[in-house]
Amino acid sequence: MEYEAIIGLEVHAQLLTKSKIFCSCTTQFGASPNTNTCPVCLGMPGVLPVLNKKVVECAIKTGLALKCEVAPYSVFARKNYFYPDLPKGYQISQYEHPLAKNGYLDIELEGTVKRIGITRVHMEEDAGKLMHEIEGAVTGYSYVDFNRTGVPLLEIVSEPDIRSGEEASIYLQTLRSILRYLEVCDGNMEEGSLRCDANISVRPKGQKEFGTRAELKNMNSFKFVRMALDYEIERQIEVLEEGGTILQEARLFDSKQGITISMRGKEEAHDYRYFPDPDLVPIEPGKDWVEEIKAALPELPQQKKERFTRDYSLPEYDSRILSTSKALADYFEECVRLFPQPKAVSNWIMSELLRLLKKDNREIEECPVSPQQLAALFHVMDKGTISGKIAKQVFEEMYETGSSAEDIVRKKGLTQVSDGAEIETIIAKVLAANPDGVEKYRNGNTKVFGFFVGEVMKETKGKANPKIVNQILQEKLKT
Ligand code: ADP
Ligand code: MG
Ligand code: ZN
Repeated sequence: MEYEAIIGLEVHAQLLTKSKIFCSCTTQFGASPNTNTCPVCLGMPGVLPVLNKKVVECAIKTGLALKCEVAPYSVFARKNYFYPDLPKGYQISQYEHPLAKNGYLDIELEGTVKRIGITRVHMEEDAGKLMHEIEGAVTGYSYVDFNRTGVPLLEIVSEPDIRSGEEASIYLQTLRSILRYLEVCDGNMEEGSLRCDANISVRPKGQKEFGTRAELKNMNSFKFVRMALDYEIERQIEVLEEGGTILQEARLFDSKQGITISMRGKEEAHDYRYFPDPDLVPIEPGKDWVEEIKAALPELPQQKKERFTRDYSLPEYDSRILSTSKALADYFEECVRLFPQPKAVSNWIMSELLRLLKKDNREIEECPVSPQQLAALFHVMDKGTISGKIAKQVFEEMYETGSSAEDIVRKKGLTQVSDGAEIETIIAKVLAANPDGVEKYRNGNTKVFGFFVGEVMKETKGKANPKIVNQILQEKLKT
């Protein structure tokens, strides 16, 4: 029997506000435990929350970018549960009346576009962080850090429109890119500013009803999301094939073993007893404010991609890569402004630049070569001072040392040899040293031509102008 996977994602994005959602404590990451706290975020009796307007603005921005309806009236609700990292005994979230709903996100799958529905976008507060001493430690204590309690989150829930681990990973990457463009979330999955729960079930192809779903909790990389879902799809199919039933449960992905493990079953599922928070008034953002935010939305990745394809005549592939982050797109555009050959610039960024950044696990913001410096390298290449091959070496050195292209070329004497007489002497030497090759060539084995070019390049340490080498070599071999 053929099966089909049904997947819906719940994504939590930490907002880039300076202060928390209901108090004025800072949201700064990495402070000493429990220093960014006050009676409000510690859940002391008798305190009252005051909503941070910036949080609502970020939520509206995100709702609009995801083509949602922004609710003219929405409500905060208490989600009640007891847990040591939740000092109030409830989390302030939204339930029946979220801030935004019924949107969509288009994702690109090998040239085709697939639309994934967005069920809702709502605001809520984050909980604290627990740290458990590893087993075998002297005390075996657990510790709690309340710096994170009250940090604003957006929860973005998708419709069950996703069909594979690959699609889920692309959805998440596309969403992350939009949140970063909007400057509402830094998208740092390692630090937990972007987290993902995936709901997954399988059903026989053609069946209408959904199967029972499992929820894979808190995955913190695109790769893990894909791996965990692909594993879970296989696992659920296997269970059904053997005549078993899928349990509705929360599961954890063990990235070391590449498997998912049951965390808690339905018997332990929470009853959150949601009710409207009496301490907070409903949110009525007003049409004017929403329109104002809409008018100020930045150019988003999809629009930028289309503009790059149109205005710079780039292939779709290039435009997509270059528009994944705003910083990378800005870098590209600044280079093109200084050296107006878009395709040459694009090629260089996609191959040389991104390769080095990836090797060092760096973002474009941390690139040691500025657009000005890279453009200067293009100009040196364009003048014929150095060959493309040498330029790659020069670029690597620029990247390592921060020096300019001109300085490196001058100091290392890398200037391209374009002097015909000099090249001719070297070619003569190479041919004299390889009489067999010459013989072969003259008997019709033209493949040895490449070998001769290589030898000349070796002699000149790659500095000979390849055009001139080709030209003279052809003449010499003919006679
Ligand atoms: P909960 O809050 O209990 O997790 P929601 O109704 O908010 O439940 O759904 C969470 C996510 O689960 C949504 O993204 C939704 O698309 C997805 N989902 C719902 N039913 C299924 C199913 N049978 N299989 C896979 N995903 C599902
Ligand atoms: Mg859920
Ligand atoms: Zn506080």
